[in-house]
Amino acid sequence: MTAEIISGTQISKTILAEIKDEVEKMKAKHGKVPGLATILVGKNPASVSYVTLKVKTALSVGFNEIQDDQPEDIPEADLLALIDKYNKDPDIHGILVQLPLPGHIDEKKVINAISPDKDVDAFHPVNVGRLMICCDKARFLPCTPAGIQELIVRSGIQTCGAEVVVVGRSNIVGKPIAMMMAQKSICANATVTVVHTRTKNLAEHCKRADILIVAAGVPGLVKPEWIKPGATVIDVGVNRVGVNETTGKAILKGDVDFDAARKIAGKITPVPGGVGPMTIAMLMKNTLKSAQYVLGDL
Ligand code: NAD
Repeated sequence: MTAEIISGTQISKTILAEIKDEVEKMKAKHGKVPGLATILVGKNPASVSYVTLKVKTALSVGFNEIQDDQPEDIPEADLLALIDKYNKDPDIHGILVQLPLPGHIDEKKVINAISPDKDVDAFHPVNVGRLMICCDKARFLPCTPAGIQELIVRSGIQTCGAEVVVVGRSNIVGKPIAMMMAQKSICANATVTVVHTRTKNLAEHCKRADILIVAAGVPGLVKPEWIKPGATVIDVGVNRVGVNETTGKAILKGDVDFDAARKIAGKITPVPGGVGPMTIAMLMKNTLKSAQYVLGDL
């Protein structure tokens, strides 16, 4: 068997085209477009490249995008004041503070300072609570888990009653995607197991999975023999394993041994080009939704 590739690159393009259409309709009806403020503190190279891509994507779908770069040594109080300014700005519907932040800034304080109604990353405790209670009716779903769910649904994979195994229990990927897949909803209704560093018999759990979602950050952790023949494999891991000497670009690998897994799985996401582009598309979707709520269209 050679697994079908689930292309996040292709699916995210479709989603971004849908968002662009909605933005044009909004502009025609209300004379307004969604506004996204992206705050970058310092010059961490990975953060700079993520923010650059987010800004470029926001502009490509027609958003009003404000890129607000701040120095590495910005005092915490000044950053909180900046967030407050955007919280009060009626033309800004989404606020994104790129993480991680420098050590002198309390990340939790920053996340809690963003209005839950503009928290397009869905990291605020109010949005985490909404996800637990009402999931598909929550205003914002966290971007990477939402992207994973979209990949599964748009690839026509049956989730109802499926065995889903999630490797990893982080707040941004493992825990929320596990909760989302277990919800009573047509895009979920799965039986979910979460495995982590203290799990005994990791391989045995993975072998049961109809849908295996891996977010561990360990290159090649999942071996081909851990995959049930025909299963769907979603590889969230992005691991820099070296540098391409010709291009100077990082060589990225997922948490799954892709070439070997492709011979056993039914469907599989590549790295790069799988979950990564979906995360950005879902950030745009959250910002659009936020503006639609404010304008009374949702
Ligand atoms: P994290 O380090 O916060 O969490 C990793 C989790 O994996 C932990 O809960 C840990 O218990 C588990 N884990 C680690 N090693 C394990 C092992 N050997 N066996 C079993 N469980 C193990 O990481 P994260 O933020 O959830 O990210 C995970 C990976 O996904 C990273 O590679 C990250 O770069 C990537 N990621 C990608 C995107 C994207 O948009 N593509 C977004 C977020 C994270």
